[in-house]
Amino acid sequence: MQLNFIDNYPVSSMSMRSIPVIDPSDGLVFDDIQHSDAQDIDAAVQSARGCFEGPWSRLSAAERGRLLQRLSARVAEHADELALLEQRDCGKPTKQARADVAALVRYFEFYAGACDKLHGETLPYQSGYSVFTWREPHGVTGHVIPWNYPMQIFGRSVGGALAAGNCCVVKPAEDACLSILRVAQLAADCGFPPGAINVVTGFGHEVGQALAEHPGVDHISFTGSPRVGTLIQQTAAKRHCPVTLELGGKSPQIVFADADLDAALPVIINAIVQNAGQTCSAGSRVLVEQAIYQPLLERLGQAFAALRVGPAGMDLDVGPLIRAGQKKRVTDFLAEARRDGIRTVAEGEIVAEAPAGGYYQAPVLLADVPVQHRLAQEEVFGPVLAAMPFRDEDHAVELANATRFGLVAGVWTRDGGRQLRMARRVRSGQVFINNYGAGGGVELPFGGYKSSGYGREKGFEALYGFTVLKTVAVRHG
Ligand code: NAD
Repeated sequence: MQLNFIDNYPVSSMSMRSIPVIDPSDGLVFDDIQHSDAQDIDAAVQSARGCFEGPWSRLSAAERGRLLQRLSARVAEHADELALLEQRDCGKPTKQARADVAALVRYFEFYAGACDKLHGETLPYQSGYSVFTWREPHGVTGHVIPWNYPMQIFGRSVGGALAAGNCCVVKPAEDACLSILRVAQLAADCGFPPGAINVVTGFGHEVGQALAEHPGVDHISFTGSPRVGTLIQQTAAKRHCPVTLELGGKSPQIVFADADLDAALPVIINAIVQNAGQTCSAGSRVLVEQAIYQPLLERLGQAFAALRVGPAGMDLDVGPLIRAGQKKRVTDFLAEARRDGIRTVAEGEIVAEAPAGGYYQAPVLLADVPVQHRLAQEEVFGPVLAAMPFRDEDHAVELANATRFGLVAGVWTRDGGRQLRMARRVRSGQVFINNYGAGGGVELPFGGYKSSGYGREKGFEALYGFTVLKTVAVRHG
């Protein structure tokens, strides 16, 4: 049984109810988390407020940095344990689970180093004045986290908020709480004061909603679906609470005929099968210049047919999807594609050892997907790649920008002028030229255009979102 983590202690929810935790690799229950409600959120917010007004605000920026650095080291020491936990809880193949822990280590390390480099400016003004700015923390920050990369998103969001001087209340997704609860305990073990990091588990419409509504929360960082992002925004707007929204994507990989296809091919495949396609920045569309469309489809098809899907512990190319409902979502999309006559070029293979109760989906490559079709417009959030041809640069830009999203894009070409023209014209928060980072490194600001959200997380840029700028004007004559 997993408990909430409030004021540096594991505590039961006030409702005393629980939610079963299921292993996506076999569909069996192996643990429970707390089914919390608004009262638990209130206790966590009070704890965070007490910490913010007490021990946390007395620490210097360098001391906050040292604590984050210690947490980074502690997470690294517990890397195997955390990776196994994540593998069981989320169905991540071993390599992916380990990569997620490594990213968490880096987030804490990066933000540890950033704490004492965040500062205001002095500004020219009328004579007889000195004017300067301070970057102040919001106070208590709320963090609503999705299930697809719990550790990574916890690291980037909570790491940045703590570095900027805030105290945090975290609401993980009901399907993926275990690693986050464990990291909160590790933080307490290495000296974070009670209330700096609180974690409350439960369902989004109850606990997430309560967090967004709570008058003691000064900023909300939400990562998740566009639908829930709208709800959070509406709720927070009633009390003018600032919100950062990291939402979905339908990110294109744009391949010109002059591209280095040997380099592009494995990257294009990884960008859609990583984490079984359950990645906000998955490269879920591949736009290919007409002259190489058929040959590239053939090569992609051969590679897709060789992909193997199985239990997380087998560490194959693809693990299970997170839950039964997610599998149904993906199979419904594929049924729609079949009904509308969209051509399947190739499918991967689910291995015989995969337990019948697991949520497995073979990767699928679809060709000639019409630009207005739902498969080309909406997130499947599964290992499904939609291919379509383009005529020239203008047409490539038109297709790339033809969805409501704008999170990440990949451009594959050897032509330097075209690389920069494409980077300018594609409307997305990140553009990768001759590579694809699926969100990129810890150092790179990340976020959306259009319905992919607003505000930026990751990198130094995120710290501006976790602070409020105050201007001080001193008249001294
Ligand atoms: P989701 O929106 O269903 O849930 C995200 C979080 O919101 C969960 O913790 C959930 O419990 C909570 N929630 C649900 N309903 C709520 C409500 N009414 N009020 C407050 N909180 C509520 O998303 P998901 O299915 O967990 O994650 C997948 C989505 O997240 C995809 O759309 C994906 O693209 C997006 N995502 C975006 C990024 C990014 O950085 N842009 C990263 C990862 C995932």
